Amino acid sequence: MDAIHGGRTPIRVVLAMGSNLGDRRAHLREGIRGLSAWMEIHAISRVVECPPWGPIADQPPFLNLVLLATTALEPHELLEKTQEVERLRGRERVVDQGPRTLDVDIIFYDEVKLDHPELTIPHPDWQGRPFVRELLGDLGKDVVDPVSGRAFAPRSRDALRAQGLDPVAPLEGLEEIQFRSSEVPSSGALP
Ligand code: ADP
Ligand code: MG
Repeated sequence: MDAIHGGRTPIRVVLAMGSNLGDRRAHLREGIRGLSAWMEIHAISRVVECPPWGPIADQPPFLNLVLLATTALEPHELLEKTQEVERLRGRERVVDQGPRTLDVDIIFYDEVKLDHPELTIPHPDWQGRPFVRELLGDLGKDVVDPVSGRAFAPRSRDALRAQGLDPVAPLEGLEEIQFRSSEVPSSGALP
């Protein structure tokens, strides 16, 4: 039995993270460290800088990434923990879709489809956000499009740039977390 999954079947989840306030790299790095208390981190995409999305265009550029993890948390527990990690990085919800120190969104939770007032899975805007769409191919063949069942193709640097996503240096200090959990356990429920 391992400490994180507590003997329960690990569920494969994809999370998206973003920061556009303060020390963006530190928020992402410490956010991932915080999440690793609740999940095994298996793969982290490239980090890209991109212009703000959504209705508030007048805000600083984001650093964004997506990651593949496994967890024993139920969807709502996972939302609770991701929001706790956001709070620990000083996130304040002042303006909807405004600047934030750390945003953690649940993109996929296994093949689960959920439509709850507080939690929609897959994330309602996952195809609309270029960084999510374009970076999913960084996470390996275990991550598939829940609709088509197809894996995502990794994008070249130029392809990312063509979408307005500028790859920056990888986050430091996370080697230990990823090394510990390089194997993605297979689950019967997964494709
Ligand atoms: P956004 O991420 O859309 O920019 P917020 O981070 O402020 O905005 O999230 C607003 C609300 O979205 C959260 O309080 C949460 O209840 C809800 N939500 C619905 N589906 C999801 C999801 N898949 N992942 C994260 N939050 C979600
Ligand atoms: Mg969010």
